[in-house]
Amino acid sequence: MTTRKKTFPCGHKGYGQICHRCASERATWVQKKQEKQQWEETFANDPIDLRHLPAHLVVKARTIIARLENTRNYTEFKGKRLRHNRTIISIPLSRDYRMICRDCGSRLVPEEVMSHEEYNVCKPGG
Ligand SMILES: [Zn+2]
Repeated sequence: MTTRKKTFPCGHKGYGQICHRCASERATWVQKKQEKQQWEETFANDPIDLRHLPAHLVVKARTIIARLENTRNYTEFKGKRLRHNRTIISIPLSRDYRMICRDCGSRLVPEEVMSHEEYNVCKPGG
């Protein structure tokens, strides 16, 4: 039994059987990995693919999707009907992304999220 500092194989110095610096770094890494995995699993519950969106827009898109279950009032989210296809509604998520919904009569069904460029290239519903 010694209380002298020793150098671990990793190069860190410390006391005891294992390097506590590496142990805590590893614990943080495992936790981050688990959080990332849990976050990725939440996408399985979305009616449309939101994986390509930044996290804050994922949250925003989900809020809108949840509201659309109960309301057809897309103007609440600054949504607009497309001029060339009145059954398609475009809801801005940010300057760069739009959520495309189809008017199915009794409710609005989210179809996909498009970036601004995609949206301009392949006019949805066109
Ligand atoms: Zn170490």
